[in-house]
Amino acid sequence: ANQRKFFVGGNWKLNGDKQSVDGIIKFLNDGPLDENTEVVVSPPAIYLDYVRGKLNNNVATSAQNCYKVAKGAFTGEIVSAAMAKDVGATWIILGHSERRHVFGECDELIGQKTKYVLEEGLGVIACIGEKLEERESNQTNEVVFRQTSAFAANISDWSKVVLAYEPVWAIGTGKVASPEQAQEVHASLRKWLADNVSAEVAQKTRIIYGGSVSAGNCKELGTKPDVDGFLVGGASLKPDFVQIINARK
Ligand code: PEP
Repeated sequence: ANQRKFFVGGNWKLNGDKQSVDGIIKFLNDGPLDENTEVVVSPPAIYLDYVRGKLNNNVATSAQNCYKVAKGAFTGEIVSAAMAKDVGATWIILGHSERRHVFGECDELIGQKTKYVLEEGLGVIACIGEKLEERESNQTNEVVFRQTSAFAANISDWSKVVLAYEPVWAIGTGKVASPEQAQEVHASLRKWLADNVSAEVAQKTRIIYGGSVSAGNCKELGTKPDVDGFLVGGASLKPDFVQIINARK
């Protein structure tokens, strides 16, 4: 067995109001949550402070994105890493497929954000993943290596980074990658880290899978040796999330 602590993140996307957020906090506080899993939830920025105030300390909080500097004349931007930190968050998701493909964020901007978030002392959930047409034209490795390399150029301390492999065709579609498909890409990514960063970083960095993870499919995915946890969207809003946290129990 490896030394990597299982990591499960819940990405709420643009969902929730105080009433539904209270329901999520209740099932997380009731648990019980596997102590061998590191758990992080990522509410919309406006609820970060509210959630942190009510959630037990065994669950960390994360922003879903942030701007690339701490403050300034950037009207309408919703959160910087400094502000997320000020309200108790310890992680930021960067490069999520919806940021890349709905909002047009490119590798260069995502890299600049990565550098800034790490300078603030927060962790980065670094998201990568190929589109369906890229997979079908055998470009999966090329795409995920390019995206990982844009992150890596801005990372000096990998202990603060979790790499999230999220094939775009699997996000929010109900079409989960098979355990074999996930394992194959995770193993390639770990080899990329060994070849391009270091053997130690490759061995220690958590590579988590995201894309239609559910209470029903999490256990089998979690048996794969290079799948070190999950990033969960839709199912993180439901009590099923507790079963996903406990996938290895
Ligand atoms: C995500 O938002 O990162 C995600 C994987 O979503 P879902 O679990 O809903 O596919």
